[in-house]
Amino acid sequence: MQLSQELENCDWVPRARLTPLRRLGISTIADLLTHFPRRHEDRREFAGFPREESESPICICGEVTKTSLRRFGGWKKIFEATLQEDEANALSQPLVLRWFNLHYVQKMIATGQRLVVFGKPRLRGQRICMEHPEFEVIESDDDLSIHFRRITPIYPATEGLSQRVFRGLVFHALENLAADEVETLLPRNHGMGSRRSALQQIHFPESTEQLAEARRHLVFSEFFTMQMIIASRRAQAANRQGVAHAGSGELLERFRKALPFDLTEAQSRVLAEIRRDLESKQPMNRLLQGDVGSGKTVVAISAMLLAVEAGFQAALMAPTQILAEQHYAVLRQWLEPLGMKLALRTGTRREENSLPLFASGERTGGADDTPDIIVGTHALLYEGVSFQNLGLVVIDEQHKFGVSQRARLTAREPAPDVLVMTATPIPRTLTMTVYGDLDVSIIDEMPANRGKIITAVRDTSKLGEVLAFIRSEFEAGRQAYVIYPLIEESDKLDVKAAAAEFELWGERLRPFRCELLHGRIPSPEKQSIMDRFRRGETNALISTTVIEVGVDVPNATVMLVENAERFGLAQLHQLRGRIGRGKHKSYCILLTKEKSPETVAKLGVLEKTSNGFEVAEADWDQRGPGDLLGTAQSGLPDLKLGNLKTDMDLMQRARTAANAILEWDPKLEAAENQRFRPLVVEEQGRTFAHVS
Ligand code: ADP
Ligand code: MG
Repeated sequence: MQLSQELENCDWVPRARLTPLRRLGISTIADLLTHFPRRHEDRREFAGFPREESESPICICGEVTKTSLRRFGGWKKIFEATLQEDEANALSQPLVLRWFNLHYVQKMIATGQRLVVFGKPRLRGQRICMEHPEFEVIESDDDLSIHFRRITPIYPATEGLSQRVFRGLVFHALENLAADEVETLLPRNHGMGSRRSALQQIHFPESTEQLAEARRHLVFSEFFTMQMIIASRRAQAANRQGVAHAGSGELLERFRKALPFDLTEAQSRVLAEIRRDLESKQPMNRLLQGDVGSGKTVVAISAMLLAVEAGFQAALMAPTQILAEQHYAVLRQWLEPLGMKLALRTGTRREENSLPLFASGERTGGADDTPDIIVGTHALLYEGVSFQNLGLVVIDEQHKFGVSQRARLTAREPAPDVLVMTATPIPRTLTMTVYGDLDVSIIDEMPANRGKIITAVRDTSKLGEVLAFIRSEFEAGRQAYVIYPLIEESDKLDVKAAAAEFELWGERLRPFRCELLHGRIPSPEKQSIMDRFRRGETNALISTTVIEVGVDVPNATVMLVENAERFGLAQLHQLRGRIGRGKHKSYCILLTKEKSPETVAKLGVLEKTSNGFEVAEADWDQRGPGDLLGTAQSGLPDLKLGNLKTDMDLMQRARTAANAILEWDPKLEAAENQRFRPLVVEEQGRTFAHVS
């Protein structure tokens, strides 16, 4: 039997089990064996029969000597089974198991059966009872060896399959799997034993130490696969033909002089890193990470200027129409005076902008209408946008795009330089996993003279005071966002509900001017609404999360989020990033009715810190890294076992090992490395196949 064998073709798998197995995503032996236990129960020793009550549950084994069904209180039923110690030890007091109104139990238990039960012994009158214990019926001696007298695996959801059935299948699969049918795909000298025995011991360990060892092996192997993929992506990128895309920097100099502010030290540093990449022939693959408001846009513009000056086109892609329009406006304002030709491409709008009349221009070659810089949304990928000479691609808020979308724009030949930007704060330790194939630049400093942001969690009952406060901000000339609780921009968005919500807020904030913004509003109108808010003609924007990323209106100082408990920490941090962008003190108010400890802890994090990395770490602690590692985003396989926080040492080791292999043998051609090829080839087939 081989790991790849279909369960369908295994005669020991009952046909009726195939469907529920498939529903769990299990169709091969390998799938079955990597459906890892959620936890284990130590059933090596059964406790003696209890003589008194106890608060801690115990696990005992005995024989059913009597059952009875009684009615009480009219229609209610109580089912009792009397359990005796195996050898009918006359001295031990029997244990009475009781179930109320559970018909199915009565069908499962009969006199003469042997049972294992798990529960708390209670004194009921003279008798010792267990009420609603967990139980398993021992059907044969085989059963004893699979399900009991051992450290027993308990599996995650096995819908339609009982724990026992599932456990039995795993047991059987392992029995039929010879050692030489399982390859151990780990680097040399890993010192972690064979995969075959790790698989055995993760399910049926003989000791807790063995279990821990098996887990280490499998986690390491999972991480190693991941790091091999990342390292080979990196090797592949390094192998691509590229050209240098950096001009002399004169344009950049003029741009910087015209800016109303100096770049921060962090901005200058990352720009220098990017510039080195642009100057090199090797294609750039760089992630620019910087908290919300740290000023990534100017850095992107600077990079694009360098590329344009060298005679190339640059493209800037943003995830929302609103953000693309904003970038387009900012770029026009700053770059048209320098003689740049800009174009906007979004799903609903294409605009080619002609040069201003008196363009000062060293750059004269352009009698044609080819834009120098093209700004757009996903439309850049699809709308038959033909780039003449694309040298640099900048992807803003890249976490909102999938890997495949990124690849679509960047996988052309000759390879353009690629800069992806994100404010999604990812804990530093995670960066090397998710973005392990990218070089990373970090803006770790905010521009000076930024007003502080105060964050406060308030009970909904305090709305009156909150409104009074917002009015005082309006009177001082400031503006506000109100995020109302229709969260998803989906088809389900009820335009009527939005209108009602808006009316309510109009009342509350009267006589100040509010406007409503959500994803269903047609684009040109959306744009005018944003423009009026930007110009300060509207005091408040009552909005869904369409404004979550990128929007930059420095005069807005209040972010009010209704039903804040419904949002994740990362998203709340992004929303809060819409304020505190100017010199004024800003206020983020999180309204909630909820008092659960989780909500209190979650929202409390935002009160404590405005630092994106700290928010991310806390998010990670509270939620685990699952969501951070969205597969769509990273294009990496899901982790089944590894924990990115507690197993970081293994990740480090896996990374070192994978890098060593691929640096020495990037194409995995050496005889001893051939075996690793399936790890990366399959994956690349999936990720890159649709690119060409
Ligand atoms: P983000 O990193 O969130 O994309 P932006 O690039 O939108 O941030 O910048 C936020 C605001 O800060 C913008 O109004 C921008 O003009 C301004 N800004 C950027 N760099 C500086 C700086 N060095 N000094 C002062 N203001 C800056
Ligand atoms: Mg931005």
